[in-house]
Amino acid sequence: MKLATRVGQVTPSLTLAIAAKAKAMKADGIDVCSFSAGEPDFDTPNHIKMAAIQALNAGKTKYGPAAGEPKLREAIAHKLKTDNNLNYSAKNVIVTNGGKHSLFNLMLALLDPGDEVIIPAPFWLSYPEMVTLAGGVSVIVSTTAESGYKITPDQLRSACTPKTKLFILNSPSNPTGMVYSPDEIRALAAVVVEQDILVVSDEIYEKILYNDAQHLSIGEVSEEVFKRTIISNGFAKAYSMTGWRIGYLAGDAELIQAASTIQSHSTSNVCTFAQYGAIAALESEQDCVAEMLQAFALRRVAVLERIRGMSGITCPEPEGAFYVFLNITKTGMKSLKFCDALLESYQVAAIPGIAFGDDDCIRLSYATDLPTIEKGLDRLEQFLQQYL
Ligand code: PLP
Repeated sequence: MKLATRVGQVTPSLTLAIAAKAKAMKADGIDVCSFSAGEPDFDTPNHIKMAAIQALNAGKTKYGPAAGEPKLREAIAHKLKTDNNLNYSAKNVIVTNGGKHSLFNLMLALLDPGDEVIIPAPFWLSYPEMVTLAGGVSVIVSTTAESGYKITPDQLRSACTPKTKLFILNSPSNPTGMVYSPDEIRALAAVVVEQDILVVSDEIYEKILYNDAQHLSIGEVSEEVFKRTIISNGFAKAYSMTGWRIGYLAGDAELIQAASTIQSHSTSNVCTFAQYGAIAALESEQDCVAEMLQAFALRRVAVLERIRGMSGITCPEPEGAFYVFLNITKTGMKSLKFCDALLESYQVAAIPGIAFGDDDCIRLSYATDLPTIEKGLDRLEQFLQQYL
């Protein structure tokens, strides 16, 4: 069968493929330690589940408005005001099938063929693929461990051309866990205004911050930046709701209306009763977020202590999300070979950095329990000893 040309231009998500392989090995009775999934291992908090069950029992089982339940759009606008100091109302918000879908809608609503999108590397692996699917062109800007895997204002400025439409900012970052400081955000914001480009701020990990790290939403910097900002966020990571598939996009009302039109012809609305769970997530006490964060913080310390004790791998200290991005150059292997060998010989699943635009690194997710972390890192240490 002759498939569309665009199929050949994208690659399947390597993170989903490796996580699936690790799950299948586990199902076959193999003792796998998986650091692959970007998914909190906690169950969704009970009050959120109960709200969805109540909605289901109350008959919230029909089609709803394409842009989302009005009450949820309002709750999100309220959250953006109180948490991020961003002045949006419900008409500036669309509820989507996850943060991934928010970004996909955005690319479809915004990009014409040839429009350029600036993406700092290492990047979340779906960004360039979405840009390609929408007909845009990714302009990848490499960053290094020395610069904390952060793009500098000069790099951003140099990457801009008359075709630049959008800059993708992701802080805290997947895969590196780095967080831009408020000053760094302000400096990037100045370039966004100077170059008159749009910025989408992917804030899906905004609640997962350690020690003194602070999250500043770029739209908060000034009215001039706010006009050029689009926010993408969701419930998956902060509330452990990955399977619920609820995210949102916030921005200029005309853009949101365009995304809603696209959504009305693709997925219609997000599962109606699930949206009631999301309302409960936003409107209830936020203790569950703090409890999960506490668990992540302990795991982060455990992982970093072990990594520091191992020779042959290094990483900058992550300040957010639940990932460490390890440089493996000293092993003499590139990332795919390293991860294949690690999974085959020691049953440890990690994601090759090549998926994120850096073939000298691998990503470990510590969204898993401490005993698995300890066992998996024992195995990683033994694995490394063979190569050093
Ligand atoms: N953005 C980043 C940086 C992510 O890591 C993810 C998920 O892994 C998403 C967006 C999308 O999350 P979801 O579609 O599950 O809401």
